[in-house]
Amino acid sequence: MDLHGHLLYIDITQICGIGCAFCMYADKHKSGMSMELSSLARENLAALINAAAVKRISISGEGEPLNNAKVFHEILGLSDGGKQFEFITSGFFPHDKMAAFYDTTQQLVAERGDHCNIRLSADSHHIEKVKWRAHGFSLDYQRRQGLDGLSFSFRSIDTDRDFTRGYLLEELQRWGLEAAIEPRNALEDVLVVGDARFGIDYKNLVHPAADTPAGYLDLHGYIGAIEAKINKRFTLGSLNPPPAANGMDLTIKPNGDVYLYGIEHQRLGNIHFDRIRWEHLASHVRETPLVRALYSQPLADLLARVDKPDLLRSILAKANNPYWLVKEMANHDGLLEQLVPA
Ligand code: SF4
Repeated sequence: MDLHGHLLYIDITQICGIGCAFCMYADKHKSGMSMELSSLARENLAALINAAAVKRISISGEGEPLNNAKVFHEILGLSDGGKQFEFITSGFFPHDKMAAFYDTTQQLVAERGDHCNIRLSADSHHIEKVKWRAHGFSLDYQRRQGLDGLSFSFRSIDTDRDFTRGYLLEELQRWGLEAAIEPRNALEDVLVVGDARFGIDYKNLVHPAADTPAGYLDLHGYIGAIEAKINKRFTLGSLNPPPAANGMDLTIKPNGDVYLYGIEHQRLGNIHFDRIRWEHLASHVRETPLVRALYSQPLADLLARVDKPDLLRSILAKANNPYWLVKEMANHDGLLEQLVPA
């Protein structure tokens, strides 16, 4: 089983005061922790980040990662160069603080020949809660300051798209930027501003409430849309365009615990206490029957093997996202075992 083109997610904080109604981590925000880097954590992260097989390092949180920007910048400092970073944020800082954040990030990536994409949330859930909106400001600031180590894109959980499209066009206009939307597929648009193009990704809502308006994709619809977008069947793991093999999706929590993304009932170690390397993780994927099945067999086919359709339906209604599903299924004895081919 070939594994290449890995994605490394580092969740650097659980702290957030924004309060989006749909947030899956709301219970952790007040008393939660932020990542700090021990010397072993630095050694582990440096090894994981600088491996040739890594395609992207994505910094996010179970909270708002701007609340731990210091550790984000320390993580950028661990790179040997030539790396693609991503920072996923609501961009809630006042604009002067946001500008200082961009300046430091630009300096660190430029020194190493790295690049960082800033992915700003642009959906109705976030926008109604954020006072300082970063979307127009950020594109304007990048253009004026020539921040060539940074790029920007947008993400939304409004799959009906109208809010996000309308909001971005209006917000950019307030900053003197004439923009247009170019639809690409069920999960992507492109925002065009002059010669520049900015991606917009649409995700489905993980825990839809009973009164969630129509227009959101259910799990099977979402998997189908991903398969149409990437032109291959959906499995867990980091999906790369065919004919490339897929990679591993590794997620590191604010306390240092390590999991394969989407298989989070199995803790694989901790960056503060264990030696974490891609080759050991690859052995785990190849040698653990459930993980091997989830990484190598289409998820829709594996779900079709489950012989408790009512129970599965109730779980799918609750965990409406392939990366949250396994964790929910693990709460029911014997269910995950049914996914493993005999
Ligand atoms: S900004 Fe992110 S972490 Fe904070 S409440 Fe909203 S979804 Fe949750």
